[in-house]
Amino acid sequence: MNALLANGLQDDADPETARVTGVANLFYGVTALFSAIMAVLDFMQDQSTLALFLLVMLTLALFGLFWVGRTGRHVLPSTALVLALFALSMYMVSHGGVEGSGFVWLFIFPPVVMLTFGLSIGILLMGALLLGVGAILFLPGDPFLYADYSQAFRIRYMVALLCCGIFAGLAEYTRRHTQRLLILLTQQLAESARTDELTGLANRRALCERLEYEQVRARRTGRPLSIAICDIDHFKSVNDCYGHQCGDLVLQSVAGLLHDNLRHQDTICRWGGEEFLLLLPETDEAGAARLAEKLRGLVEAMEYSYHGIPVSVTLSFGVHTCGPEGDIDYHIRKADQKLYLAKEQGRNRVFAGEVPDIFLPEGLLLDEEEA
Ligand code: GH3
Ligand code: MG
Ligand code: MG
Repeated sequence: MNALLANGLQDDADPETARVTGVANLFYGVTALFSAIMAVLDFMQDQSTLALFLLVMLTLALFGLFWVGRTGRHVLPSTALVLALFALSMYMVSHGGVEGSGFVWLFIFPPVVMLTFGLSIGILLMGALLLGVGAILFLPGDPFLYADYSQAFRIRYMVALLCCGIFAGLAEYTRRHTQRLLILLTQQLAESARTDELTGLANRRALCERLEYEQVRARRTGRPLSIAICDIDHFKSVNDCYGHQCGDLVLQSVAGLLHDNLRHQDTICRWGGEEFLLLLPETDEAGAARLAEKLRGLVEAMEYSYHGIPVSVTLSFGVHTCGPEGDIDYHIRKADQKLYLAKEQGRNRVFAGEVPDIFLPEGLLLDEEEA
């Protein structure tokens, strides 16, 4: 069963392609099986026209399995098979089938077309079926009718077929609606897993992914890539003096101000409690230091007040350009080291430039050759 559903499916196929291909394969598999059984039965009961029809269906279904297996596409064989099913349905209604049971088979048409082609084309095909059956049952003089149906039966049969079509359409609509909802929910979940709840900035996980991507790109293109880590000075005293709610509001204001003053290609994330990391592609250390200095000045000049009480906020920055040497951890530690030096030198300042690796743990030190 699994092999049948996965026939022609690529390993990396998206869920919708997997569903559509699986449904098509199942349609061919079930049609092939039932066509073969019914063809044998019809031959035994001397229904050679019907049996031939079913052999055509069997051939088309097997062709479908072969075609999907080779190309991964189902539209051509599915269209051929549905047209054959349509023709068989018309024949069944007009000739009555074995012992007048032909009309019953038409009830498989609505779910098959909705499942295989979706709502819009399904509705069109259903409309074609109803028109065809209506013409056979209600054209004056019954030019296409060779079976014997009462008027009451004809009307009730049409209504039953219409009902079946409506409910098959409704089931497909509900499935599609639920699927869209699921996709939306998954996207929202994926987004929130990459976003910091308080500030709305990217979180550490999102930035690490971006940093890896940008570092590979910078190495390939030879363009500079800088990072800046900034930390709010004496933030603990903001919390202690005005409370955590004020601290949160300050964090949001600083985050908004930093975010609004970066270029589109830059990324900012909330790196930790009151720390932010700025990822600056195409920027050398001097450019990154200028930007950090501008941001530092903006935050210093920010007039923030909490319940009318002015709260002053300043930032310290460590700025570092990622050279070709070292991995991401190494470069982050270097920026952190410079932030530490900015703090040590009195806070509310930007520290950039070369510094020895003295504060880095041994594992992150570069050996001479690598550098
Ligand atoms: P320094 O200048 O050395 O950075 O001093 P600091 O007080 O900013 O640094 P410290 O590491 O001593 O304190 C950081 C404070 O940040 C402590 C912690 O309660 C606060 N903090 C971290 N995350 C949040 C948050 O989400 N909301 C609020 N209100 N406070 C936070
Ligand atoms: Mg701090
Ligand atoms: Mg800190």
